[in-house]
Amino acid sequence: MSPAKLDRYQAKRDPARTPEPMGRGPRGRPGGAPSFVIQEHHARALHWDFRLERDGVLVSWAVPKGVPFDPKQNHLAVAVEDHPLEYGSFSGEIPKGEYGGGSVSIWDRGTYETEKWSEREVMVVLHGARVNGRYVLFKTGGKNWMLHRMDPAPEGWEPLPELVRPMLCRAGALPVRARGWTCEFKWDGVRAIIYVEGGRVRIKSRNDLDITAAYPELHALGRALGSRSAILDGEIVAFDGTGRPNFGLLQQRMHVRGEAAARRLAQRTPVSYLVFDLLYLDGHRTTGLAYTKRRSLLESLELADDRWVTPATYAGRPQAVLDAALAAGLEGVVCKRTNSAYAPGARNGDWVKVRGFRTQEVVIGGYTPGKGSRSGAIGALIMGVPSGRGLRYVGKVGTGFSDAHLKELAARLSKLVRKTSPFEEEPPRSQVAGATWVRPSLVGEVRFSDWTREGRLRQPAWRGLRPDKSPTDVVVE
Ligand code: MN
Repeated sequence: MSPAKLDRYQAKRDPARTPEPMGRGPRGRPGGAPSFVIQEHHARALHWDFRLERDGVLVSWAVPKGVPFDPKQNHLAVAVEDHPLEYGSFSGEIPKGEYGGGSVSIWDRGTYETEKWSEREVMVVLHGARVNGRYVLFKTGGKNWMLHRMDPAPEGWEPLPELVRPMLCRAGALPVRARGWTCEFKWDGVRAIIYVEGGRVRIKSRNDLDITAAYPELHALGRALGSRSAILDGEIVAFDGTGRPNFGLLQQRMHVRGEAAARRLAQRTPVSYLVFDLLYLDGHRTTGLAYTKRRSLLESLELADDRWVTPATYAGRPQAVLDAALAAGLEGVVCKRTNSAYAPGARNGDWVKVRGFRTQEVVIGGYTPGKGSRSGAIGALIMGVPSGRGLRYVGKVGTGFSDAHLKELAARLSKLVRKTSPFEEEPPRSQVAGATWVRPSLVGEVRFSDWTREGRLRQPAWRGLRPDKSPTDVVVE
């Protein structure tokens, strides 16, 4: 014999197909304060089920954003069918396809006192492990109610901030000593701050624009965090087929209008969110904490999925981290002071970005005369790389030399002087005015930022001779 109040509950469920209790057992319970339970329900849409024991059943509401801690925020609560008392201890999987299919876990439970209970208004004082205080549910129409906290927010609790600006990096050199620093790979993408609350995300760009709609594949991060509220700092990156961040690929994702277009592009060119900092967690700002403390809180969230991850940070030798980053084809590293607070919007030197340089071996084909203080000496080396039957001009390098370098180069090159250019095609005359040509046999190495469209090295700087290499060893990286 089941109580008439549970007819709706039972009609929706087949005991052969769901592990949920059916409420056909005897009614009644020991005396004492009535119980409440809040269950986190990862169904088609994440929600929290708020249930109050009353007259032998659990009177229930589904609360899409969960129970508010902030008295200024009322949360929608949708009345649903009464549940059996045994449901208060239910957690588990409701099979897919069944009513409410998905996982149910107990988020909080306890007892409550009733201050008022009418058709339109229910006022209670909850005594739970997570939630304590006076709440009121009031009917706004049909099944819809509002859930409002009447007490002040819990001691020390702060609402999720509307906006926290990203902390910025100063461009610089690697820290001289590893102590007190940790380094992370620098990801070539777009900075994004993600606000997560009640299972929902809001994504903001570095210039505070709401870019949530542009990245639908990141919205599930809200569900992944469940009832946690958090502000994350990280980089949105598009990886290419070789697993490298590709800013070009990301470009097409950055200026998307319309949700349908965004979803289409998300299928074709999905992005990843690489999370490296935590600015707020469960009612508390964390920006004032030291980096290491924020980092361990972030790691405790265990963010790992196809579409988001917390990449490693390395407290070892910064140079080794940079070398590894460059070897992996990344831009460089960001080094952070381990004891530094998060300074929103500031560029205070506690975060330093160090861009890597690429290197290229080159064959010296000549040199131009120095000017000013280098008058009478070498001004710049004229560089080439082997190409077909000759040498292809790739530019000049005039920086990065020590006096010792220049002396040695002058001595070596003086033995190689010849009358004609060793280049297959003549370099532009304006770039090689007054050149002394040499036999193309000396190999050196430069660091540079990129190749130009004309096939020249951009921003080359001399690193040194490569006596272990001959011109035939030189390949274009
Ligand atoms: Mn539910």
